[in-house]
Formats: sequence, C-alpha cells, structure tokens
Amino acid sequence: MKRRDLLKYLSITPLAGASIAGGLSSANAAPMSTPLSVAKKRDLFAELGVRTFINAAGTYTAMTATLMRPATVEAIRQASHKFCMLDDLQDKVGARLAEIVKAEAVVVTSGAFAALTLGMAGILTGLDPVKVKQLPKLEGTGMKTEVICQKSHAIGYNQALTNTGVKIVMIETVDELIKAINPNTAAMHFLHVQSDKGQIQHEEWVAIGKKYGIPTTIDIAADVPPVSNLWRFNEMGFDFVAISGGKALRGPQSAGLLMGKKDLIKAARLSMPPRGETIGRGMKVNKEEILGMMVAVEEFVKIDHDAEALIFLERIKKIQAAAESVAGVKTTISTPTLGNVTPTLNISFDYSKISKTGEQLRLDLRNGNPSIESVGGKDNIGMTAWSLQEGEDVIVAKRLKEVLESAVKS
Ligand SMILES: *Cc1c(COP(=O)(O)O)cnc(C)c1O
Repeated sequence: MKRRDLLKYLSITPLAGASIAGGLSSANAAPMSTPLSVAKKRDLFAELGVRTFINAAGTYTAMTATLMRPATVEAIRQASHKFCMLDDLQDKVGARLAEIVKAEAVVVTSGAFAALTLGMAGILTGLDPVKVKQLPKLEGTGMKTEVICQKSHAIGYNQALTNTGVKIVMIETVDELIKAINPNTAAMHFLHVQSDKGQIQHEEWVAIGKKYGIPTTIDIAADVPPVSNLWRFNEMGFDFVAISGGKALRGPQSAGLLMGKKDLIKAARLSMPPRGETIGRGMKVNKEEILGMMVAVEEFVKIDHDAEALIFLERIKKIQAAAESVAGVKTTISTPTLGNVTPTLNISFDYSKISKTGEQLRLDLRNGNPSIESVGGKDNIGMTAWSLQEGEDVIVAKRLKEVLESAVKS
C-alpha cells in the first residue's frame, strides 16, 4: 500500500488504524483482516460450536469457574502491550498484595493447586539450589519426607503436596499428631473447608506446629467470602496459605496466590519460572495473569460484600419463587458456613406429582435455550446466584418454571 493510499485507508477505517500504526506499515499488510477489527466481529465460541451457558451452578473449574471483572480484563489488556522482567513484576505485585492480605510475602501462582505444590517445594528445599533440582526425589537428599494431615482433611487436592515427593501421614487426635511428629516431618497441612470435620482447629494446629518447630500450611482455595479470610490465616501464623484466584475472587481462572513467610515464598519461587530444571517450570503465570490477579484482589477488597450478598439472595429468591409455584416442587435456601459461602437453592420433588428426576430436569435446563447449568444429584437441583450476570436470574426463573411445568403429571 502506498503511503497516500494508506492515509486514505486510515481515514475511512478508524479501527484499522491502531494495528497499522503499531507496525504493520509494510506493503504486504492485509488491512481488511487486522486483528483488532476481526476480534470485534468474531464470536469464537459459536465459530467453534462450543456451547456457552448461564451459570447457575457456581465456581466450578469444569465450567470455567468465573467471569473476570472489567478492571481485571483491562489489566490483562494493558499487560499484553508491554514487556517486563517476570521476577521484577512478581516482586512488585507480591509486595502490594502482601500489604492487602497482611502476609510477609505473596507470589502469584497458576492456581491454588500450584500454590500448594510450590509452597511445599519451598518448605522442602529452602534456598538450596541443589535441592530445588532434586525434587521430587527426596530420598538421600537430606530433605524431609512427611506431611501430617487430619484424616478428615485428606481430599484429592493433597496430590498437590505429594507431587513434591512427600507422603501424607494421617492423624485424628492431638495425641496422634504429637506422636506422628518426627525428624522427617516437613509440614502440618490443614484444609479449611473441612475444618468442622476434624478434631483439631486452626489455632491449635498452628500452636502445635510452633511448639515443635514444624511449618503449618493451609488450603483455603474456595474460602472467600468472607473477605476477611484473605488475611485471617496469615495473621493466625500459618507459614503458607494457598487460595484460588479464579473462584469468588474472579481473577484469571488459571491464577492463584501463595501467601506466607518471606523466606518460604522466596524459596518457593526458586521452583517457579523463569527458572527451569524445577518441578514448577510448567506452572507458569504470565504477566497478564499476574497483573490480572493483582487487580482482581484490589477490586475484591473494595466491593461492598454485604450489598453483593443481598443481591445474590434476592436473585436466588426470585428463582425459588418460580420453582415453588409449581405443584410437587419443594425448595430450601441455605448458606454454607464453610466453602462456597453463598445462598444456595436446593430443589427437590414429590415424584407422585413430578414425572422426571432431578437429573433429567437438569438435562432439560442444559439442553434448552439458553442453556443453563445447575448442580445436584439424581433427585435434586442445586443453584447459586453468584455467577449469574445482570438479568439472568429472570431468565433462569422463567426457564426453570417451564421445565418443571412440563414435568407435572396430569
Ligand atoms: C478449587 C480448589 C483447589 C484448586 O484450586 P485451583 O485454583 O483450581 O488450582 C484446591 N483446593 C481446594 C479445596 C479447592 O476447592
């Protein structure tokens, strides 16, 4: 394109200007397919035939969990335009986040799972670069090999810890805990969401760890709200705290935070990119995710959580009322006290009046238009409102009523 033609082109197609000005001034530039103008027009999900849906289920990884706030998306967009040194960005973002969450240090990880693995790696290796390279082989390295965990806290996510080579030692009582502590004990791990199922509570866990010189660690992946959980366990004295970025925090789904003691976070980062030859090399977070995560946390602590909780409750009540209006449908709303703390609607059925199971009705919702995702077992439907967008509560209420009415026995 000649300069004269280019100027003419720019004046009539303003959208194309940005990318051409950004460097595509060669004669070979294909102005009608600039990334900017095309991205505006494409519906990538539709193009691929990927079903999208209204999420009345909740923050489930399989459903891509959450939608980022506009400020977070803007942070990602801004980040994508510049280079920086990865460690420099983690240093500065970590310092800012540490202030917010009242921890000595923070690093953005590729999710809570990675935070657990990297935190555990940091405990095992300390600042020794030889040990960093040796993981997940512990035998003969001088590294410790055992993590103590309450039996009721042992869920699948402990795989994040065992990925470093450690094995989990299960206990139930304080007596058993103290007997289990030995020179091979690397850490004592706690799972907040199961804390009501275990005999030992957080404070006592931390106190015993301190008394015996064993680091204590905690998984709070899905445990905001309340917002105070962001700092509660740091202030309590856990050596590290792992949280998901992509659940209620509404950060990038592929991000999370490892918060904790300064030396431990420093050690954990030795197993993280940009350093290679580490177990964490595959747990990369890019600058977009790091800045997106920072802004997500900044936004999360700014919002009025009480007001937001009321909105969620109103929305879920609207859906409840629609369900209740159908004969043979029973509903309750309850808010869990641990994990996924949001008003949760449970719908069950009198099968003498309703001809379909909860499972079949959920499929009807999924296969309808618009598609709606919910949760539940064979005989119920579960819904939450915290992933609904403005106005979607009305659509869910209407579709739910239609689906339920279609199953009423005549
Ligand atoms: C979601 C979850 C994780 C994993 O979090 P990611 O951020 O997806 O890696 C770990 N532990 C618990 C208890 C969780 O709920």
